[in-house]
Amino acid sequence: MAQAHVLGLPRIGAQRELKFAVEAFWRSPMTSRDEAALQDTGRDIRAANRRAQRDAGLDWITVGDFHWYDQVLSTLALVGGFPERFGFAADALTLADYFTAARGDARHSAMEMTKWFDTNYHYLVPEYTPHTRFGEGTEWLFGEVEEACAEGGNVKPVLLGPVSLLYLGKEKDGLADRLSLLPDLLVQYARVLRRLRSQGVAWVQIDEPVLALDLPQAWRDAFAPAYARLSAVAPSLLLATYFGDVSEHAALLRSLPVSGVHVDGVRAPAQLDTLAAQWPADKVFSAGVVDGRNVWRTDLTRVRESLVRLAQTLGDRLWVASSCSLMHCPVDLTKEARLDKELRTWLAFAVQKLAEVALLRRSLDVTEFAKPDVQAAFEADAAAQRARRTSPRIHNTVVHRRLAALSDAHARRPSPYAVRAKAQRAWLKLPLLPTTTIGSFPQTAEIRAARADFRRHAMSHLDYLETMRAQIRLAIEKQEAYGLDVLVHGEAERNDMVEYFGDLLWGFALTEHGWVQSYGSRCVKPPVIYGDVYLPEPMTVTWSAYAQQLTDKPVKGMLTGPVTMLQWSFVRDDQPRERTALQIALALREEVAALEKAGVRVIQIDEPALREGLPLREREWPSYLDWAVRAFRVCSSGVADDTQIHTHMCYSEFQDILPSIAALDADVISIETARSDMALLGAFETFAYPNEIGPGVYDIHSPRVPSQEAMERLIEAALARIPAERLWINPDCGLKTRDWTQVDAALTNMVSAAQAVRARLVKREARAA
Ligand code: GLN
Ligand code: ZN
Repeated sequence: MAQAHVLGLPRIGAQRELKFAVEAFWRSPMTSRDEAALQDTGRDIRAANRRAQRDAGLDWITVGDFHWYDQVLSTLALVGGFPERFGFAADALTLADYFTAARGDARHSAMEMTKWFDTNYHYLVPEYTPHTRFGEGTEWLFGEVEEACAEGGNVKPVLLGPVSLLYLGKEKDGLADRLSLLPDLLVQYARVLRRLRSQGVAWVQIDEPVLALDLPQAWRDAFAPAYARLSAVAPSLLLATYFGDVSEHAALLRSLPVSGVHVDGVRAPAQLDTLAAQWPADKVFSAGVVDGRNVWRTDLTRVRESLVRLAQTLGDRLWVASSCSLMHCPVDLTKEARLDKELRTWLAFAVQKLAEVALLRRSLDVTEFAKPDVQAAFEADAAAQRARRTSPRIHNTVVHRRLAALSDAHARRPSPYAVRAKAQRAWLKLPLLPTTTIGSFPQTAEIRAARADFRRHAMSHLDYLETMRAQIRLAIEKQEAYGLDVLVHGEAERNDMVEYFGDLLWGFALTEHGWVQSYGSRCVKPPVIYGDVYLPEPMTVTWSAYAQQLTDKPVKGMLTGPVTMLQWSFVRDDQPRERTALQIALALREEVAALEKAGVRVIQIDEPALREGLPLREREWPSYLDWAVRAFRVCSSGVADDTQIHTHMCYSEFQDILPSIAALDADVISIETARSDMALLGAFETFAYPNEIGPGVYDIHSPRVPSQEAMERLIEAALARIPAERLWINPDCGLKTRDWTQVDAALTNMVSAAQAVRARLVKREARAA
């Protein structure tokens, strides 16, 4: 008989209990930190997760997937691998220490954070140095296992595997090769696994997600000896891979001395059959068939067919599973009382996915499959799938026709940059080194209260309009006073740069409680793109046009680009991502046209998520970049030569995709560089960016106000690589997290810096002439 399990559950709690408890703990004074309340919350969440798995009828209760901040940090804590620079005693690590590493304190900068594969979750990056020594660590995992074992049932702890733990870290202080730390690390993994075995654990899930990356040969070769070493002392090991195709490792996976392997059958469905074909007789094969990365209800009939096929070759060596941990989807759909009723029947959040996994496993047994409750569930699912395929809610003829009519001409501005730049200069009459900002201004308590009141119907439409207009007036007055050249309206009306548009576009739905962990205590609530995307009416014109009427200076219209909207939403799985991106692009193209028509002739389309949309495997980059660039060009190319298109990007490694960024053909790009100390500028020595560019000169993440001199230095550094005629001066990103005192001072300094450098340039030129 096959068995049912999942790779992990969300740990934030159905009402984000973990967030609130952790933040309360952080606020409590150092001296009297009350850990008891926090521990209680953790215990409750873990108990609820075990109960949910048991209630669903899973064969395994997964534990060890609960983490106070991050799974990578917790694994470091377990094996005594915290960065030494914090000076903590590994075997006496406290919760306060743990959070200090994650968040930093007066004496230590926080550990670096980066994206977990291609998800929107961020993990803390391990720091490996020549002095790194692993050792005894926290007892937390063992306590959680004990807690679970006390309730009985099959407890399956999950651990991040040693090869991935090393691979995902960074070498510091001159360490040549972090793989050299593996033998020392394995001593600790062996200790942990032995201990789990002594606790009565029969199976441990050990995650090695790096197998889905372009893994260098030395790292591939590390698996066999490492796992030979561990399996000698461990309970049965289920090696879990996810997020991609691992069939190139077929020989390795078949021969590895572990008791089972899990593969992702949602991201890479074909590998299920390929790998199972010659599966060793003594190994479990766990098929990840319920999507842990998205919110759609599983097509049970279709998935059952593939499982039946697998069961024929595998028999009871088959385990039925979620594709990856369910931490990447929201907790419980039943909390969504306000969601459209029909849409709801198409969705499944984590709790619903547990039931799907259990049901699929039951359905493999012919007598179980014949039972009325199983039959009824399959029928209900088939009806939902049918409705979703044909619903007029999803399919919009107008969108289909427009998409079909799309030609290459739609993805090309009428004239090349040089011609456009001339036309734009003629009316914009900007000084050399023009100054601007990225869009948002401080989101004060007053602004947030007004938005909340309006949402709750506690404020009338006109009062709301007037409150927001007052904010726009304030922003315009201030920008004029600073002396900025291209102004913005300030984005007071926007809670979030994707949700705001999701609320106004047809084909998007917003949830009330669909939170997903982004990092630490931070959660995001991605919109659900369920249908053809369509613009019912302009979304930003009233705000931007109003702002433009207040001033003679140009005001930039502000939009979020198609790739970023896609990347930060749950995307429909019934058509390719690129088709959805193009639909969003077409809707935005109309918005851009409406802005232009209303006299807003500088328009910024933000694409901060362009880089993070890159597939995990490099061989898939070109096709992604192709359609992503095309989507941007479709939304930005329907304007006259003298309308100036800006784009903006931040907080990712742009170096390797600069040609694609240039291919967007925006007239101006503003890009974050101050935070990373102008590291990006180096890339411009080898790659000549053809259009105008504003490398950020103000790190907006810091409350610190940069001095005029500091910004002058950054501008001069930029001038060494970018000709003055094409250089803009701006902050790294939007200013919504800052307060007005900081913004007043910083932008005043920024404008003065630009003026000072301008004056020097004029002098230099006079001298040269
Ligand atoms: N226009 C947005 C803002 O200023 C851009 C935000 C972002 O890049 N993440 O807030
Ligand atoms: Zn930004």
